[in-house]
Amino acid sequence: MTVPSVRGMKDILPPDSARWAALESAFLAHAARFGFREIRTPVLEKTELFSRAVGETTDIVEKEMYTFTDRSGESLTMRPEGTAPVVRALLAHRAELGEWPVRLSYSGPMFRHERPQKGRLRQFHQFGAELFGTESPYADVEILAFLSGFLSSAGLDGVSLEINSLGDPACRPQYHRKLSGFLASREERFCDDCRRRREQNPLRVLDCKSERCMEATKDAPSILESLCDGCRSHFDAVEKGLAANGIPFSRNPRMVRGLDYYRRTTFEFVIPGMGAQNTVAAGGRYDGLAEMLGEKEPIPAIGFAIGVERLLMLLGEDGNAPTAADVYLVTSHRRFVDEAFRWKMELLGKGVRAEMDYEGRSVKSQFRRADKSGAKAVAVFGEAEDARGAVMLRDMAAGTQEEVSKDEAMRRLATFKEE
Ligand code: ATP
Ligand code: MG
Repeated sequence: MTVPSVRGMKDILPPDSARWAALESAFLAHAARFGFREIRTPVLEKTELFSRAVGETTDIVEKEMYTFTDRSGESLTMRPEGTAPVVRALLAHRAELGEWPVRLSYSGPMFRHERPQKGRLRQFHQFGAELFGTESPYADVEILAFLSGFLSSAGLDGVSLEINSLGDPACRPQYHRKLSGFLASREERFCDDCRRRREQNPLRVLDCKSERCMEATKDAPSILESLCDGCRSHFDAVEKGLAANGIPFSRNPRMVRGLDYYRRTTFEFVIPGMGAQNTVAAGGRYDGLAEMLGEKEPIPAIGFAIGVERLLMLLGEDGNAPTAADVYLVTSHRRFVDEAFRWKMELLGKGVRAEMDYEGRSVKSQFRRADKSGAKAVAVFGEAEDARGAVMLRDMAAGTQEEVSKDEAMRRLATFKEE
């Protein structure tokens, strides 16, 4: 029996892998234009990083982490998200990263032990960006302009931006009390998870995806009505900045995020009508996270993460599947294989994707393969042409062929580079 892959973890095969690579380099290039430089952090971190940063009572830490004890008895976790590792790295390498603001982008796999379904995997991938060292609402607008600009340049339509403010330590406790009071009055209508959540982390009840909880919390008090002056004016400035820069948005006072470190601005890019997996990208401000990780002074910060699988799913198949080869070298006899192979190596060295047959297949079969490969030109090594120092060159699109000298054929083949 063959060994199956781990549930919820997928192989990314060609030609999908090429779409992945193209999307990733487009993201990193877009990020670089906005001044974000790429950081690559390890996949494994100390478990404590996430229990402190993401929050003990979040779904991620309570039930979704891949945590294990390694051979030296240390508790390690496969990163479930990218922000806490980036902040850890920022604190460790503060001086090397230059003056504030520091802008970092990342791309890589994340791991969560969730129930696999469409748009929900156990190994999934995120593109993300984090902006550190400024509390200014301009930073929030910049991050949202960056993200919405990338999503539309990737070709995503019909996505809408929802924003909220989660307040800060000055005003959130008061809202917690208000919300707890409201939730206590409808306790019996919640799912089992939410009955427990209600006491530990009341905000999380608003994020529950079960119908009954959504219904029961329909008229929950809005956090936007409980903001202190500082959070209120920050939120107003963000809304103004978005409007002034032509970024459409709507308020969603029920939006809380699955991570505890957020405060003030939070946002999601959602596709209406996609069910529970409708969020393509999400993020927010997390001014308190550096302190939670042991830093003495707070480091204001804001960032986002894009779910790559969900983005690719929404973008759909692109019609032009990439071709496998630019030119194909057909050999009519075994004795031409050495020479054709030298041509192939020379063409590859010139950046032309050349392909040929090593198995002594019939000319007919080689032509079939040439056709399938998408090659635009085929050179045929044949007895009669070879005697004249020539090959037959076939233009696959036009269906025409002509005999040309080997030097000329090589020169022409070298022009068939991938666009
Ligand atoms: P959700 O509410 O869908 O569970 P989340 O709040 O847990 O999302 P974040 O931690 O904010 O998600 O991650 C940002 C993005 O990463 C999500 O908007 C989504 O696109 C993607 N994502 C999160 N979890 C998964 C997963 N298990 N499989 C695939 N993509 C995911
Ligand atoms: Mg989740």
